[in-house]
Amino acid sequence: MECIQNTSAGRWRDTLLVPGSFWDILQYIMIRVLLPVFSLAGQLAFSQTPVTPKPPFTAAEAERGKAIAEKSAEIRRDIKNMRDPAEPFKIMGNLYFVGVANGEVYLLTSPQGHILFGAGFPDTVDQVQKNIETVGFKLTDVKAILVNHNHQDQSGGTATLKQRSGAQVMAGFAEIPYLEHGGVLPQGANVAPGGGGGGYPPVKVDRALFDGDVVKVGPLTVNIYLAPGHSPSPTSFLYPVKEGSKTYRVFEFCCWEYPDDLSRSFFINEASARHNLELFRKVLPVDIYLETGAYGWSGALNQPSGTMQERMARVKENHMLFANPEIFKSWSAAREVELEEKLAKLKASGKPPYN
Ligand SMILES: [Zn+2]
Repeated sequence: MECIQNTSAGRWRDTLLVPGSFWDILQYIMIRVLLPVFSLAGQLAFSQTPVTPKPPFTAAEAERGKAIAEKSAEIRRDIKNMRDPAEPFKIMGNLYFVGVANGEVYLLTSPQGHILFGAGFPDTVDQVQKNIETVGFKLTDVKAILVNHNHQDQSGGTATLKQRSGAQVMAGFAEIPYLEHGGVLPQGANVAPGGGGGGYPPVKVDRALFDGDVVKVGPLTVNIYLAPGHSPSPTSFLYPVKEGSKTYRVFEFCCWEYPDDLSRSFFINEASARHNLELFRKVLPVDIYLETGAYGWSGALNQPSGTMQERMARVKENHMLFANPEIFKSWSAAREVELEEKLAKLKASGKPPYN
């Protein structure tokens, strides 16, 4: 210890280059061997310290959420053809699933008109219309079509559904250039659609949606949140549905992305991912969680086992499976933990944009 306290930086350097006496050799071992070993051990210990989510999410929820995320990815693989027909059913109260095998399309009804969330593919419009009629409603009573983002599986049928219903089309402001050009911007525009775009009839958007907007149709009220990443301004929807004496908070979100693979989208980065986590905190509690894909539904994930198709059949039989606020909260916690882990790795790698 005495040597360390009395040694100048210059002397250390000299000593290290030319170890001679016993004390010099000891110093050499300390600086060149032991310190790096301790440093590495410290770094390893730090890197192995489990990341815990910030409140109100808990470590236990993150652990449960990890299993939920894995299950979602697993059952997603059961959907071989996203366009396959699916049977419609009540999700809760005045909210219905009316889409195809991949999910995507939901109908919120009222005596003064309905709201359709998502439009499915260009060639699944007939199935969506049939499903709306099967649950007892008319496409012509749809007053607003709210699309989450500009990709074909979500927006492909919008033009035809608008034409058949006369409804107003609404979308996040930055999705509009794509929607009005069939999913692909004109040549020369310098922004790519971010995966999965293109290939559907262009549609005129009647209302641009911004963060904090409220959409009203008769007694229906939908709160709008933009969640950039998967595309420029995916639009999430928060609204209440009533069944019996109980009111459930429904949240439809799309789509969670990690900023460790920029090839998936130009619009995902650390700031947008953090923004989306804050959105998750803002909308709590979420009783019924919907994504644009059925593999993300709280009802599908609130089951111990089964294929995607078996889970869809079960929620059709027992729609109360949708009501479980733990699914969204736990999954959000897990997403936050995984984000922090991925960001730490990304920053350590020195790859752009962190170099
Ligand atoms: Zn998409």
